[in-house]
Amino acid sequence: MGDPDRKIWDGVLAHLRTNHPNLCRQWFEELEPVRLSGGALTLRSSSTIQRDYLHRQCLGAFNEAIQAVTQQLLGVRFVGPEDDASPEPSSPRTSDTPRRATAPRLNTHADSLVINPDCEFENFIVGAGNRLAYAASVAVADNLGLAYNPLFVHGGVGLGKTHLLQAICLRVADRRPDALIYYLSSEGFITQLVEAIETSTMPEFRHRFRDVDVLVIDDIHFLAGKDRIQEEFFHTFNALHQARKQIILSSDAAPEEIPQLEERLVSRFKWGLVAEVEPPEFETRVAIVRSKARLRGLKVPDEVASFIAERVASNIRELEGALTKVQMHAMIEDRPVDLALARVALGQRTAAQPAEPSVQAIVAAVTEYFGVRTVDLQGRRRQRSIALPRQVCMYLARQHTRLSLEEIGGHFGGRDHTTVMHAVRTIETKVASDQGFAATIQHLEQRVHGSTAA
Ligand code: ADP
Ligand code: MG
Repeated sequence: MGDPDRKIWDGVLAHLRTNHPNLCRQWFEELEPVRLSGGALTLRSSSTIQRDYLHRQCLGAFNEAIQAVTQQLLGVRFVGPEDDASPEPSSPRTSDTPRRATAPRLNTHADSLVINPDCEFENFIVGAGNRLAYAASVAVADNLGLAYNPLFVHGGVGLGKTHLLQAICLRVADRRPDALIYYLSSEGFITQLVEAIETSTMPEFRHRFRDVDVLVIDDIHFLAGKDRIQEEFFHTFNALHQARKQIILSSDAAPEEIPQLEERLVSRFKWGLVAEVEPPEFETRVAIVRSKARLRGLKVPDEVASFIAERVASNIRELEGALTKVQMHAMIEDRPVDLALARVALGQRTAAQPAEPSVQAIVAAVTEYFGVRTVDLQGRRRQRSIALPRQVCMYLARQHTRLSLEEIGGHFGGRDHTTVMHAVRTIETKVASDQGFAATIQHLEQRVHGSTAA
């Protein structure tokens, strides 16, 4: 590769960094510019997963960058480590029937989902809310068909379900290159089934799904209410399960909570392991911000990571969005990220976001209602008359403040996070089963919020 071409590549990278900071990853710098010919700059990545990701997610931005840099109608081509770099245009292989020879063996049928090379286990931050789901995912990836089958991961939006599914795919692709993986969304499954019915190609459809070693379906809850689809999925599931092929599913709700899902599917989804991902506590959020910044090659001081983690509590995608905003601001103002800049980037708290109640306000409401003393809540006594109000305090603190489990435990006699988690679960269960108690909690919540409005 000649020097002028190297200069173009450097220019492309710089353009991407300035104009698409949220897309840029550290590993882009390791892409190798192979040649500039036939109207395209060929870039070689170190894995086929990187190649496919670049092709499907980043091509537009790369093309825009090379045109901006050269002022010519050039394009970019991505090739993998073993691909031929000769100039005739080629795109990543797509085929209906999975190929058995190349590694890693990902089914790249048009409906398969693209895997983000960043979504490795190594980049997944583990905290109390996702520990089980993480451990189960690792176990499944390392013992296909043997650990838990199916693995069913569920939880709210942006809490890492897709990340875990992709991490499993990446690990299997890396360590078990012989295993054929098919990773798709439930819409992908539906589209293909409908197509197969319309074109009378059911045998091909069945073959495509039942020949895999690992079937990964994201957002399976979209099967809700679709009887014909559920019927076919039921047969696919049985065939794979009987053959001890690994099945991995994600959903926004637990199997029994997915509306209009056939009972026999609900029961099968529970055959293996059902693991929930829950919103991360403060420390985990800080660690996630740090990890995302590192992947982008962005320097973020600790106080800024904490600031961002404080501002966004419930959804990790939004946490990343906040980091992007800060990064954009730094880019536009051409200065390093610091607290002042982050404050401006994320804006001041608006009136629509009520200030959160203090632990003191929670303790005041609870002690008054239950007629207990603050010292009792912080003490060691475990009789029910004290233990219940203490658990209510922990529950309210968990629901209405951004404090971590550890911090909440600290306020109530230095209890550890598992005690707090247990308290939260206990109260949740009681609220769900006892209307009178639910009313009590609601009353306390109003009191607690009332005291912050004043
Ligand atoms: P879901 O599928 O549950 O809606 P995703 O897996 O798409 O959520 O996660 C949203 C974003 O948050 C992704 O960029 C993902 O990498 C990131 N993310 C979620 N959980 C974690 C975690 N524990 N550690 C690091 N990143 C995470
Ligand atoms: Mg998802």
